[in-house]
Amino acid sequence: MGVILVTGGAGYIGSHACKALADAGHVPVTYDNLSTGWEDAVKFGPFEAGELSDRARLDAVLARHQPEAVMHFAALSDVGQSVREPGLYWRNNVAGSMTLLDAVTAAGTPRFVFSSTCATYGEQDGVTLDESCAQNPINAYGGSKRAVEDMLRDYARASGLAHVSFRYFNVAGADPERQVGEHHRPETHLIPVALDAVRGRRDKLTIFGTDYDTRDGTCVRDYVHVMDLVDAHIRGLDYLAKGGTDTVFNLGTGDGITEREEKETEAEVTDSAVPAVEGPRRPGDCTALVSGSRRAAELLGWVPERSTLPEMIGDAWGWHQTAGYTK
Ligand code: UDP
Repeated sequence: MGVILVTGGAGYIGSHACKALADAGHVPVTYDNLSTGWEDAVKFGPFEAGELSDRARLDAVLARHQPEAVMHFAALSDVGQSVREPGLYWRNNVAGSMTLLDAVTAAGTPRFVFSSTCATYGEQDGVTLDESCAQNPINAYGGSKRAVEDMLRDYARASGLAHVSFRYFNVAGADPERQVGEHHRPETHLIPVALDAVRGRRDKLTIFGTDYDTRDGTCVRDYVHVMDLVDAHIRGLDYLAKGGTDTVFNLGTGDGITEREEKETEAEVTDSAVPAVEGPRRPGDCTALVSGSRRAAELLGWVPERSTLPEMIGDAWGWHQTAGYTK
């Protein structure tokens, strides 16, 4: 039990990770520039405002808190934006992570957990994806995360930094106790966009592409509950503390769900029709991303317990009906 520096701790996944860390007896210190996160979401430990690109600030925060591990969530993660503005992704996600790794290895922090993505795999012809699949990202978001995975291995080889990378499939849901949840500005992710449409906070959901080679023509994704996802991170810390290192884990359930199926479940859970129209494909989207791995189960003992679609949408809906964050 000790101090864990959580970059991006004010964001969606990072704030849930802070809650899980605090529940497990750790002290999560959030390092975040609040560009996409919320100060209101920092509830479980100290807050240190700062940029990933600010080496002096990182050095000072590492010296003050002496963390035993870093969990690195801070990143831009909007696929569509990454296609339009790749430089943003390479500068923030890649160059920012490099500065962080410089600081972390100089400070001698022993362990590092990296938040990666299934978008590093790219288009793979309908196969389920295990960690040995080739990584051929088709957008700058996936490209930037793959680059950081590679960078992390190089830094670890030089410094002995123990590390794991988690490749997330589609993270959904919210803290069932409603202390934290998903709140982006602007919102771009499928489930919260559809919930906003149900609540009348936007006109409608646009389904991006209905001509994909899938069972109903819409993209297939593998959704995992954010509480299950952060549980894997706690297990990852334990794995590193026991001498594990240099391991990549997929975090998904193996169930592929189409957008139309997602929309139908959303209508059932909220007991309301989801106002929706069909639109063209969104550049950068893969046809199907489904996890085919059991590595996290085998090495971490990780079993997703809340990741059914009705439970994820139910928790997201519960959170959406709260006030959310204001600052
Ligand atoms: N999607 C959609 N309409 C939206 C947002 C997303 O049709 O308003 C689709 C998107 O094209 C993708 C899937 O939903 O096929 C999941 O997108 P999301 O942005 O939630 O996550 P991603 O898979 O891009 O990380």
